[in-house]
Amino acid sequence: MKVKGALPIVYHPDYNITFMGLEKLHPFDAGKWGKVIHFLKEEQFVTDGNIVEALEATEEDLLVVHTQRYLNRLKWSLVVAAITEIPPLMFLPNFLVQRRVLRPLRTQTGGTIMAAKLAVDRGWAINVGGGFHHCSSDKGGGFCAYADITLAIKFLFERVEGISRATIIDLDAHQGNGHERDFLDDGRVYIMDVYNRHIYPGDGYAKRAIKRKVELDWGTEDSEYLQKVELHTDGALNEVRPDILVYNAGTDVLDGDPLGGLSISPEGIRKRDEIVFRAARRRGVPILMVTSGGYQKKTARIIADSILNLRLQGLIGAEALEGEGSSPPPPATSMMLSSAASAAV
Ligand SMILES: [Zn+2]
Repeated sequence: MKVKGALPIVYHPDYNITFMGLEKLHPFDAGKWGKVIHFLKEEQFVTDGNIVEALEATEEDLLVVHTQRYLNRLKWSLVVAAITEIPPLMFLPNFLVQRRVLRPLRTQTGGTIMAAKLAVDRGWAINVGGGFHHCSSDKGGGFCAYADITLAIKFLFERVEGISRATIIDLDAHQGNGHERDFLDDGRVYIMDVYNRHIYPGDGYAKRAIKRKVELDWGTEDSEYLQKVELHTDGALNEVRPDILVYNAGTDVLDGDPLGGLSISPEGIRKRDEIVFRAARRRGVPILMVTSGGYQKKTARIIADSILNLRLQGLIGAEALEGEGSSPPPPATSMMLSSAASAAV
């Protein structure tokens, strides 16, 4: 595990879902995470040696948020087929579903937990995957089998001293009903959600958890979108100053996305990510970005371009490391993951 001197960008090749062409049965580019890293390597921002390798979340880790009953249900291929919206999975033996679909999602979930700790230590971190915002403690859906955002925040609350307030800014095109259900009655978590009001999941119960709700109409374009994102991001961070900002940076707001129904350009996505990072960095609030939804063929290029723009703007980068080489490696990762059980709620 290389952490010292590395960029707080978390990834593992196991993030990607490939299985006898099965991945082609879903309207997804299920290899987008690897492609993002490929593009970042091409631009010489990252190498295999200077990013942090994600560890798969263990069952003990998952039990910090999930019920045993829910985790047991994932042992039925039919249940996983419904959650991931890949119907043919129901015909596969569960050990294959575990290995080819759930393990990638558990590795991305471990990545979000690790990135959360890195964000606290370094000021920023990016998990190249994660952002499964439709999953709550006892219910999956919309391709989300594990509640990585809830898990990351609970790990910080329980295991990192001085972290007692979190803000979630969810800019995926869909409402983030998973983390909203999990934090419905938790005053420590402030949720801002900007989404297309007409699409999945339309979860009225979960909406009660949203402190700043921005509902968009079909085909919303850059100027209106960016104006609202900037106004409400500043408003949210001025209202409550959190110890960690979790930024769910879904790219299914992109024009032409078959699910999102919005009309944001690639440049609009770059500007959006820049607005959120600038707002956090200016205030000295640690920011964790997860990539969430958006699976068109061109999505990986757009995510990579946005990360490169953040570097160009000086909002992320090696210079953001404090005293590189002299600071101790953060006690994130394996120790944090394996010792989770003792803190389970
Ligand atoms: Zn989405």
